[in-house]
Amino acid sequence: MYKILHKYFGYEEFRSHQKDIITDILDKKDTFVVMPTGGGKSLCYQLPALLMEGVTIVVSPLISLMKDQVDELRSNGISAACLNSTLGYQESNQICNDLLYNRIDVLYITPERLTMSKTLDFLESVNINLFAIDEAHCISEWGQDFRPEYLRLNMLKKKFPDIPLIALTATATPRVQNDVISLLELEDCRRYISSFNRDNLYYEVRHKKDAYKQMVRYLKTHRKYNGIIYCQSRRAVEDLYNKLKKEGFRVLPYHAGLPAKIREENQESFIRDDVQIIVATIAFGMGINKPNVRFVIHYDLPKNLENYYQQTGRGGRDGLDCDCILFFSYGDRYKIEYFINQKSRKSERDIALSKLNMMIDYCESNVCRRKLLLNYFGEDFDVQNCGKCDVCLEPKEMTDGTATAKTFLSCVDELNQKYGLNHVVDVLTGSKTKKITDKQHDLLESYGAGYNYKKNQWLDIGKELLHKGYLEVKGKYPVLKLNQKSQNILSGQENVQLTKLSEYPSTSKQDNSA
Ligand code: ADP
Ligand code: ZN
Repeated sequence: MYKILHKYFGYEEFRSHQKDIITDILDKKDTFVVMPTGGGKSLCYQLPALLMEGVTIVVSPLISLMKDQVDELRSNGISAACLNSTLGYQESNQICNDLLYNRIDVLYITPERLTMSKTLDFLESVNINLFAIDEAHCISEWGQDFRPEYLRLNMLKKKFPDIPLIALTATATPRVQNDVISLLELEDCRRYISSFNRDNLYYEVRHKKDAYKQMVRYLKTHRKYNGIIYCQSRRAVEDLYNKLKKEGFRVLPYHAGLPAKIREENQESFIRDDVQIIVATIAFGMGINKPNVRFVIHYDLPKNLENYYQQTGRGGRDGLDCDCILFFSYGDRYKIEYFINQKSRKSERDIALSKLNMMIDYCESNVCRRKLLLNYFGEDFDVQNCGKCDVCLEPKEMTDGTATAKTFLSCVDELNQKYGLNHVVDVLTGSKTKKITDKQHDLLESYGAGYNYKKNQWLDIGKELLHKGYLEVKGKYPVLKLNQKSQNILSGQENVQLTKLSEYPSTSKQDNSA
């Protein structure tokens, strides 16, 4: 093992788990590997491929990544090939011939191609030593990029019961792990789950208010460093790119709407440090291994924590510090919800919504961000203070907000649960909007009852109540609705803790009067 590690890969030592995994494979055991991106998954199957007779078949979903891997193996003197839809008849034929004559050590293949009956028939006559399923989370609907064609891989264990199988992924919540194991019929496999903690990443969530200004300030004080700014849409990328360029930053855009050549050039410029910043959609980053990314800014809310973890994971690959800053707003949440509601299948909508809610939890929580992220991936993290997230560095103070909550909920009640957050807050703060005069809401008892807070503070209070489940939003035009928990507060059965914001004027007067 060490000889091959040195000769073909140029390394002296194995990383955590690699050696045990490889030993298991050589013992013909099935294995399931969860390792963060950059952890060194490929070696786990590439090295045993060289120690065993026959060919290792690697299932991989992306043709572009496949090509990179094959090129890299070949440049290390390893005989590798790939079979996919881009090959011509002659090329495919040549590869099949090489397979029959044992001239290939590692074969990359797409799941579609592998599970075609003619491929399977052909493979009967090939000496296969291992199946490696890369990006194995694609088999789970709970995985972030579910691919129905992965489901067909469930025949591998039935058809080739004696050939060991290794399934690998970088993102697996416990839910996805169970899916992968049961769908691939790996119940008796050995499981290797690496820690997902990236202790050189600093996590911070900021209110998306004057976000552009905040960001420019950050970028100006970090001119020496390279980083990625993620936006939700192509248009948002273009807008931000143009603004930053005008501002004098060395910046380039990246999204799937750009011609392939431009995309490649921009990516290369960023990797070579020719520009400081790349503004990108999630299309950017797949398979990129740039060691010195010093900041990853999310200008828009990511759809779920898998995405967030993966995208921030592109920072600090060299082990040095990287700032991961996310700008959070409710507007973004509704935008994402809107897109989720366009999905035709209900199960898909439900999964996406529940993931979005966990993303929001992450943004709003007063719990260590690292702890939340790691818990999400099924990992315990029981450190009191991680020392590298905004929550741990500047804990928010909580206060008894029961009276405040009552004031808010009473107003929703008085408005017959027919209005959205903004209007409720306008009533509470005694605004003189046209809507209020038209509807004579200035005659309500709640009108002006929230005099001791400013409008934006009431907005925050409303959102916090919403997020904590003391209220709900329903309907096409988001309308605030009371639920059982709201009733509990209004009837005095339940108390609520709310964040004490620094700009709050004294709340004692109101809270005592409750
Ligand atoms: P993953 O597939 O888990 O994202 P890779 O297999 O691409 O990660 O490996 C990430 C990087 O780590 C690669 O550059 C790889 O060559 C390197 N690497 C893997 N194993 C070792 C090792 N034992 N020692 C040093 N570097 C390693
Ligand atoms: Zn923390």
